[in-house]
Amino acid sequence: MKIHEYQARDLLAKAGVPVPPAKVVETAAAAEEAFIANGMPLQVIKAQVFAGGRGKAGFVKLVKSAAEARAAAEFMLGNRMVSPQTGPEGVAATKLLVAGAVDIAHEYYVGLVLDRAKSTASVIASAQGGVEIEQVAHSNPQAIVKEPLHPTLGLQPFQARRVAARLGFTGKQAGVMAGILLKLANVFVQYDCSIAEINPLVLTKDGQLLAIDAKINFDDNALFRHADIAALADPAENDPLEVRAAKANLNYIKLDGDIACLVNGAGLAMATMDVVQLHGGKPANFLDVGGGVKAEGAVEAFRILLSDKKVRGVLVNIFGGIARCDLIAEALIHAGREVGFKVPVVVRLEGTNVEKAREILAKARGELPTLKTATDLNDAAKQIVAATRAA
Ligand code: GDP
Ligand code: MN
Repeated sequence: MKIHEYQARDLLAKAGVPVPPAKVVETAAAAEEAFIANGMPLQVIKAQVFAGGRGKAGFVKLVKSAAEARAAAEFMLGNRMVSPQTGPEGVAATKLLVAGAVDIAHEYYVGLVLDRAKSTASVIASAQGGVEIEQVAHSNPQAIVKEPLHPTLGLQPFQARRVAARLGFTGKQAGVMAGILLKLANVFVQYDCSIAEINPLVLTKDGQLLAIDAKINFDDNALFRHADIAALADPAENDPLEVRAAKANLNYIKLDGDIACLVNGAGLAMATMDVVQLHGGKPANFLDVGGGVKAEGAVEAFRILLSDKKVRGVLVNIFGGIARCDLIAEALIHAGREVGFKVPVVVRLEGTNVEKAREILAKARGELPTLKTATDLNDAAKQIVAATRAA
C-alpha cells in the first residue's frame, strides 16, 4: 500500500524526523489562502500523486506570491502529470501540499529498502540526492552507500554513524544525520514498510537537516496489524478495475499493452505474458483466476478484462488440473453469451478432460465466431498477436 507525501511527512514528523510544516489543500483558492496564511516570501506547491518525478514534470513549483501559488495550483489540479514513473496517460492530483520553501545547500538521498539478495532491510544513501538519484544509481553506483540491518537488532547506532561519515558529515551534523537514519529505520521496521525514503533530505544554508520529500510504502500482508496505516489508504488512487478484481478474488494487475490474458496460476500467468511478448505482443494485464476457477469467476474476469478500453484481444491459457477443462470451456461460453466477445479470443486449454472441452468449444463455434482455439501456448500467442494486429 502506498500513502501520499503529506501522510508520509506526518509519520516521519511523529517519529521525530525534522519535517517543515505544510498544509494540504484541494482547490486553487485554498492554495492561495494557505500561501497568505503561511506568510513566507518563497513557498513550494507540490502535487500529491503516488508517482515520483514530480519536480521535472512541473508538479513541484516554487512560488513567490499568492497569485503564483494560485496559478501553480490551477495548473496542477487541471492537468494530468506525466513522468517516467507514470504511463503516457499520466495521473491526476486532487490534493496539493503548500509548504514554506527551504534554502537548500545540498540534497541527500536516504532510504530504507528490502535487500532481497541479503534477505534483510538495508539503508541506502547518497550525497548526490534529489531528482537525479535514479541516474546516479545507474551511472555512478559507487556514490550509493549501503548498510544492511541486522534482522533482529535493526540498524545499530554505529552503522548510522558510518553512513553519515560516508556521506561526508562530521561533528555535530554527523550525529544529527545518524539520528535521522535511526528514526527512519524505526519507521521502516515498526510499520512493516516495503520502502521508506527521504529524497531529498536537505542540508539548509543555515546548517539544518530537513526532510522535504518522503515516500513510504507498506507490506499489504502486514496491514492487519496497522489499522492506523490501513485507514490512510486513498481508494481514489487505486485502479478501479483492480479494486473490482480484488472483490472477486482475482489476482489482476493492469498493464499497458492491448492483449488481455486470462490464466489459472500465477506462474503460468507470468509465462503467458513472456510468450506473448516473445511473439511481439504486449500484455494488457496479469490475471490469475486461481486453480479452482468457476463459471462465475470466469465471467467476472471477462467483464473486467473487456472493460479495459485498450484491450484488442484476449488470450485464455488454462491448465486444467483441479479445475477441469470441460468446466472451463462451459464457463467461457457462458462468459461469451453474457459479455459478448467483440474482440478476438484465443483459447489454449490443456489437462484434465481437454478432449471434452474441445468438443464443447467446437459446438459453440457458430455462436461465438471470434472465439478460436490453439494447439499450444506458442500457437495461441502467435494467433492472438496476429489477430490483434489485423484488427
Ligand atoms: P519529486 O520530484 O517528486 O521527487 O519531488 P520533490 O519533493 O523531491 O521535489 C523535487 C525537487 O524540487 C527537489 O529535489 C528540490 O530540488 C526542489 N524543491 C522541493 N522543495 C523545495 C524547497 O522547499 N526549496 C527549494 N529551493 N527547492 C525545493
Ligand atoms: Mn523527491
